[in-house]
Amino acid sequence: MSYVRRSARVSALLKSGEAKKLAEKASEQDVKKVIKKETIKEHSISTETVKQEKEIKAENKKRVNNISKDTVSKKPKKKVQEKNHEIIYAPRFLDTKKLVGAHVSVSGGIHNAIRYSLSIGANAFAIFLRNQRRWDAQPLDPEHVSMFREGCEENMYPPGSVLPHGSYLINLGNPDQEKREKSYQAFLEDLKRCEILGLTLYNFHPGSTVGQCTLEESIQYIADCINRAHDATKNVICVVENMAGAGNSVGSKFEELGKIISLVKNKKRIGVCIDTCHAFAAGYDLRTKERYEETMTEFSRYIGFQYLKGLHLNDSLKELGSRRDRHANIGKGYLGLEPFRLIMNDSRMDEIPLILETPVPDDDLEIYKKEIALLYELIGKQTLADANLPKNFVKNLNINENKSSKSSESSGKKKKGEKNSAEIDEQC
Ligand SMILES: [Zn+2]
Repeated sequence: MSYVRRSARVSALLKSGEAKKLAEKASEQDVKKVIKKETIKEHSISTETVKQEKEIKAENKKRVNNISKDTVSKKPKKKVQEKNHEIIYAPRFLDTKKLVGAHVSVSGGIHNAIRYSLSIGANAFAIFLRNQRRWDAQPLDPEHVSMFREGCEENMYPPGSVLPHGSYLINLGNPDQEKREKSYQAFLEDLKRCEILGLTLYNFHPGSTVGQCTLEESIQYIADCINRAHDATKNVICVVENMAGAGNSVGSKFEELGKIISLVKNKKRIGVCIDTCHAFAAGYDLRTKERYEETMTEFSRYIGFQYLKGLHLNDSLKELGSRRDRHANIGKGYLGLEPFRLIMNDSRMDEIPLILETPVPDDDLEIYKKEIALLYELIGKQTLADANLPKNFVKNLNINENKSSKSSESSGKKKKGEKNSAEIDEQC
């Protein structure tokens, strides 16, 4: 195992505590032993039932056996305590420049996002800064804020690895001045919350045209709001997300996002987040190396990789160009696994948050843990056949490149009113 070749960022992350000791002294075999010992110890102090513990141990055993050579996993130095509830840590992949994580809940307080992220082995995470479907926001609890800030620092979630998501209600492109102002105030409030939380990125949907308003006008309104917010805040980067293209949304084409950027004065505080599902729904193919490169060339032409601040990793339940925003679990939709293998081996996606927004059946975060491990397994693999995917995992997630379209078609056939377990209503 080459500790020498690890990235500068990881070196910085490993500065303290057990991670350093582990990295300096341990052989790969030792690392495996330590992880195994710790995961079992952690679970023995958890509040899980004995049966659940057995399942988790079995899962961990499989995971430990599948840890790749260039992967260091460790238990973070300190724990974020939530009442008397212990955190169940998942092994963390640290010797990598890919910061994979998921959109996690802030239920019980914003600081809990860290607990959820640790439980799935995430190196990055996304959160809502408040109820995403309400205009009125509860003020942030100062105690939760300091727990969040401490938790991020102690558990190695630097500001650039956290990608908060804005409210769905915000439409900065609305031509109605009063309504746009309402959106702007919510937008500004979110940016200020990011500053309070010590975060530097803020991801949001650009907006949509309304009534007779043209696309160009909407784009100008959006850019004006961003410029105004930049003047009212200090350092948060506004990260606009590409859209699937439903209704009158702005930003399904890279050209449109490029136009917003061109109108923003402070270029250091504007960025873009690519949602793989949205891109695919908007007609950008990613399923083969050739198509992927074509899409990325388009991105480079109209936007530029210096503006890429994050990705949302979602498979798509709908076909290419459908303009439908329906996320599927990784490898389970029309995209299949190949686009994610390409992303995990694309250095342009290094050191930015790569966030899963995939469906979570029965609120069980285990799916994220599996998807994160799956994504890390794809690093360094020339083809999907080279990836060492546990057999039960392949079966569970129905990962089969040749049949991915077929399988999601059949899973799409459902009785009227019956909800597909892979389909979610809350899109990001
Ligand atoms: Zn998204």
